[in-house]
Amino acid sequence: MTQTMDDNALGRLLADVEGGHRLTAEEGVSLLTATGPAVLAVAAAADRVRAARAGEAVTFVRNQNLNVTNLCVNRCGFCGFSRREGDPDAFMLSLDDVREAARLALSRGVTEICTVSGLAPGFTGETYAAILEACHDGAPGVHLHAGNPQEVAYGAARSGWSTAEQLGLLRKAGLGSLCGTAAEILVDSVRRRICPGKIRTAEWARIIVEAHGMGIPSTATIMYGSGESAAERIEHLGVLREIQDETGGFTEFVPLSYIHARTPLYRSGRAPAGATGREDLLMTAVARLFLDNIDHIQASWVKLGAKLATLLLLAGADDLGGTLYEEHITSAAGGSGEGYLDPAEMVRIATDLGRPLAERTTLYARVD
Ligand code: SF4
Repeated sequence: MTQTMDDNALGRLLADVEGGHRLTAEEGVSLLTATGPAVLAVAAAADRVRAARAGEAVTFVRNQNLNVTNLCVNRCGFCGFSRREGDPDAFMLSLDDVREAARLALSRGVTEICTVSGLAPGFTGETYAAILEACHDGAPGVHLHAGNPQEVAYGAARSGWSTAEQLGLLRKAGLGSLCGTAAEILVDSVRRRICPGKIRTAEWARIIVEAHGMGIPSTATIMYGSGESAAERIEHLGVLREIQDETGGFTEFVPLSYIHARTPLYRSGRAPAGATGREDLLMTAVARLFLDNIDHIQASWVKLGAKLATLLLLAGADDLGGTLYEEHITSAAGGSGEGYLDPAEMVRIATDLGRPLAERTTLYARVD
């Protein structure tokens, strides 16, 4: 464990948390920096809290990712996905392409289409709405999980209207829920280092609260492992916990481990080679213990591969995320876990853990 907490103190703290004690930031940092056998003690406590709060089922959603373009005006240091106009591998789907991709997704029986793109130079608020309309045309009835606070801010600014107006337009176009991405680390000093072109913490939080207030739920995420400290990770969790206290609009928390290989931050020596396995395990476990007001924690097999994701299901996670037929963002950054995770393989994972697999909707209703 840490120099500041012995085994007895750790045991007492974990028992207190299981009994309902809300972790302080300082306690969160001490758990997140656990080493040796203490790591497994934290994971075991998180697993018990998972069982009490979310039950035994390992859930998943049948979905398809749809990246409309990789053109982006930003150059976030951790991103290997964005391209400039004229780059040989830049792409931009037409609205007909989007409609066709949505149709194909529907034919595969998905219940969710997740669409996030770059901040393309020519996009306006109307463009993001038109993309959703094309998805809706191609796959009526399928839940559209789309955008994020950064896209909302960009679309609104490009069209000269408020973010509330932008959210309203997206909802009219079929938006079912907002992605909680573009959060990265919600600490401005870190944002200035890894994504200086992105909206600041207060603006991200304001747009999320606004969306929740309009009845648009969202996920919550963290992109960790690009060199931020344990205290900064906990500060991020603190921002999310406070928002959830106020709105109750987060459906789940998704820890996203930094995929480093093809990103400018790593290549220029300004970031480590991602989080270690110990950090991955503790990020999920401590999130389960710290976020006492978010029911579901996802193990992202896209970022970590199915084997490590399986271990996270023993450390506080209860959800395996999507089947994801197509995902360019992780592979562009050098990750290898992308593609498609067959529900049959998910059954094997859950069975191996002695737990049932259950299909869910985006909003965590069960699908028979
Ligand atoms: S993370 Fe998003 S906003 Fe940043 S460069 Fe990549 S695509 Fe653009």
